[in-house]
Amino acid sequence: MSGIEETAAQLDALGVRRNGVLLVHTSFREVRPIEEGPLGLIRALRASLGPGGTLVMPTMTDGESVFDPRSTPTYCMGITAELFWRQPHVLRSTHPGGSFAALGPQADLICAPQPLTPPHGRDSPPGRVHDLGGQVLLLGVTYGECTMLHVAETMAPVPYSVVHPCWVEVEGVPAKVMIPESDHCCRGFERVAGWMRTRALQREGKVGNANAMLADARDIVSVALERLRVDPLVFLCPSSAACRECDEARASITSP
Ligand SMILES: [Zn+2]
Repeated sequence: MSGIEETAAQLDALGVRRNGVLLVHTSFREVRPIEEGPLGLIRALRASLGPGGTLVMPTMTDGESVFDPRSTPTYCMGITAELFWRQPHVLRSTHPGGSFAALGPQADLICAPQPLTPPHGRDSPPGRVHDLGGQVLLLGVTYGECTMLHVAETMAPVPYSVVHPCWVEVEGVPAKVMIPESDHCCRGFERVAGWMRTRALQREGKVGNANAMLADARDIVSVALERLRVDPLVFLCPSSAACRECDEARASITSP
């Protein structure tokens, strides 16, 4: 079992910037065991960031009911994020499908209202983490979970766009809205780890039992944009892979 202080020291050694902004994607199953469980991991992250730091996690939802930032559980975001947004003083943004939670001096700015589409564009919580010069920590997960790459896709911009339904309340009545976004299976994002490694833009190490990757959001976005400029479909599975989600993204491309 890793202690909280020991875990915080691992985060320091990895290069978490004191008083910085840190977007964390994590699978606690990979990190455990840690003293006090997922809440202990959150304490370690906060200790490493220091009092001037801002901790951010994705709290996306399934879009199948009207989103209430005070009560709607996360969907597939892991137990750490699910417990994080429920902690005192943690803010949660209001996008009906793509919400994030944040705690710290930049939390208000990061969780401010945003356009419905794109959910992860420049004007969204991960887009703001990018603009604030924040870091991204992948803790026991791959770049397949990295929402910062959707920011790069919208900045490129990529030619594909699919719609996901979300429920919002319009004058007190639930209404379904279709929200366009650059989405696919996201397995192609995993290639970014190698690109970042080759360029020495990524710190890697152990945090608890998990493999951790830490990088500047701006580096992730600029490396992704470099590749997207050469091939706008670089993140989609090849047609031969018969990936339903990537085929759907490909089919959404309208010829100029
Ligand atoms: Zn795919």
